[in-house]
Amino acid sequence: MQVWKFGGTSVGKPERMHSIRELLDSDPNRKIVVLSALSGSTNALIAIGEAAKAFDDTRAAAQIEDLKTHYGLFIKDLYATPEGLAKGQNIVDTEFGYIKSLVGIKPFTIKKEKELVAEGEILSTKMFQAYLEEKGENSVLLSALDFMRIDADGEPELSTIEEKLVTILNQYTDKQTIITQGFICRNPRDEVDNLKRGGSDYTASLIGGAIRADEIQIWTDIDGMHNNDPRIVKRTFPIRELTFEEAAELAYFGAKILHPSTITPAKLRGVPVRLKNTMQPEAPGTLIANQTSDREIKAIAAKDNITAIYIHSTRMLNAYGFLRKVFEIFEKYKTPVDMITTSEVSVSVTIDNSEHLEKISAELKEFADLEEHDRDQNIICVVGNFSADKEGIALKVLDALKHIPIRMISYGASEHNLSLLIHSKYKSEALNVLNERLFYYEDAMKDIFTAP
Ligand code: ADP
Ligand code: ASP
Ligand code: MG
Repeated sequence: MQVWKFGGTSVGKPERMHSIRELLDSDPNRKIVVLSALSGSTNALIAIGEAAKAFDDTRAAAQIEDLKTHYGLFIKDLYATPEGLAKGQNIVDTEFGYIKSLVGIKPFTIKKEKELVAEGEILSTKMFQAYLEEKGENSVLLSALDFMRIDADGEPELSTIEEKLVTILNQYTDKQTIITQGFICRNPRDEVDNLKRGGSDYTASLIGGAIRADEIQIWTDIDGMHNNDPRIVKRTFPIRELTFEEAAELAYFGAKILHPSTITPAKLRGVPVRLKNTMQPEAPGTLIANQTSDREIKAIAAKDNITAIYIHSTRMLNAYGFLRKVFEIFEKYKTPVDMITTSEVSVSVTIDNSEHLEKISAELKEFADLEEHDRDQNIICVVGNFSADKEGIALKVLDALKHIPIRMISYGASEHNLSLLIHSKYKSEALNVLNERLFYYEDAMKDIFTAP
């Protein structure tokens, strides 16, 4: 069995849903198909929630009507028969009736907000299943809320997901296509919750891991993982193969094509992940698996909104107790640390979740001096196969960035990652200059020197 996930743009137009059906039909494997909300819907639902929170009922009502109109037009082109359209209209009326009722409840709680945001994926999957029914396909829609679980820290519980999903799937062994929602789940209070923005990729990987699928395919609007951010850098190209470790680093450090945690369950269960382009299905895309790769430097990603914290020991503690005390505080506030650099009496760290920064700073100050934090920083992450005996990788990277002030450097923690901290105003320049230097200059030189 395979798991195929289609993102927002891949389901964002009726004709795209038609193409998905063709893609599904062209492949003989049984599949679990994970769908995102139609592109723009999650943002629109969040905006409706904001209006509800601000008690702006008029704005919320107008936004709901706009979104409903969008869905009304969508179903007209999605279905070919009056019966299909009637089913689609029924879905839209029912779900928008529910959306209105949610927004009408005062106060508009976080619990209601999560239920509201979940409607994006609930609508897209119901509409798509009704479309497959219209076409006489052998498919069924399962609610992700019946098996996707997170714990009190928002982390998915893979073994619970596995247990619940396997039981449910046993009832549908005759179905060729099993549809479900990405992104949404239940928390320990049994409330509707989600896996954070972009979470449908994570759903696909969790399901693929849970059922030990043959392959997980992430279908999106680009022909695989590119060597650099195509939204910022001009001459990028797709990478054919990545190891789990390389892909995990890229996703974690900002390659938007994958939710940061996507690779973890797939890697844990050894399920290959293939990134494919819905607009260009014949393109090979990117295969993420266990194999090692030949090219030294594979790709570059950038993670935004980073804060750097500079901590100096006041020597109230022994040198060996200092780091433990520092990290205990980050642990207490469940704030992951991304980069760390140390000197004899100082340690600098970066975080991307600054929600608890004030409390963390206050506790650090009990035994350390803090320099002013640097907000608005960026981690540039160079990923590849950097075994300890490979020479010159850091030199190439630093040489490319010689005109950009570098605040921190992290190299050697794994064989796959060299990270640098810079101010975000240099992000675009850094990505572009690294792209030219690491992927084009070397190749051009090779051509010159090997020319006859
Ligand atoms: P989906 O809606 O299918 O989940 P996303 O918008 O979340 O799609 O992810 C795909 C987008 O990720 C691409 O359109 C591209 O602009 C962006 N992106 C950022 N970095 C990369 C990268 N290194 N390789 C490919 N795409 C990237
Ligand atoms: N619809 C959700 C979002 O926009 C999840 C996803 O698309 O992956 O974040
Ligand atoms: Mg996405």
